[in-house]
Amino acid sequence: MEAADHDLHGFKRRGVLFVLSSPSGAGKSTIARKLLANEPDLAMSVSATTRPIRPGEVDGKDYHFVSLDKFRDMVAANEFLEWAHVFGHRYGTPKAQVEAMLGASKDVLFDIDWQGAQQLFQIAGGDVVRVFILPPSMEELNERLIRRATDSAEVIEARMLRATAEVSHWDGYDYVLVNDDVERCFEDVKTILAAERLKRSRQTGVIGFIRKLMK
Ligand code: 5GP
Repeated sequence: MEAADHDLHGFKRRGVLFVLSSPSGAGKSTIARKLLANEPDLAMSVSATTRPIRPGEVDGKDYHFVSLDKFRDMVAANEFLEWAHVFGHRYGTPKAQVEAMLGASKDVLFDIDWQGAQQLFQIAGGDVVRVFILPPSMEELNERLIRRATDSAEVIEARMLRATAEVSHWDGYDYVLVNDDVERCFEDVKTILAAERLKRSRQTGVIGFIRKLMK
């Protein structure tokens, strides 16, 4: 998959595929929301899922909610960049949408799990930046899930079990942050994005500038 060139400080650069993963309840969605509100050149990849819609969620905005048959058709038609089983449901990143965002000179934000981060890295390697957000403690995570009150006790218990498994994949990420203060964590995520955008390996246009400098 080709990332399109972006224009920053006069240099063309490759788009960043910015992955945020965390156990659910660690504050990732809050940070993703703040990031999107602050970064006009960042667009969110909206996944397709077979999980039932939750109260307050909007089809096409939070996810594309699809049937199992539809999801299978999309897999067969090679429409996903990556997809995985999570909590007994299927989740996948539609390829066309990511290509369109990169084509429009946007960096792309992904809220996907470690399996997705791994697959994306295999496909797009150097364009991918993987950030993992940890909760300050498992007790805090449990409380946040209860406070969120969108899931039943059984689902919360399953999510806590899954969180432990998810955390064990921390070493598949480029950055690991602890979200004990959402503002600070958000600032750190913004700093990472800013630095990654400036990375020399992304600045495909630098050569032209150097040539002009040297003549
Ligand atoms: P939730 O059901 O709470 O919205 O999401 C459950 C988990 O699925 C989260 O960890 C989220 O990051 C992950 N997820 C959401 N969309 C995708 C996707 O397209 N691919 C993969 N691999 N994981 C996803």
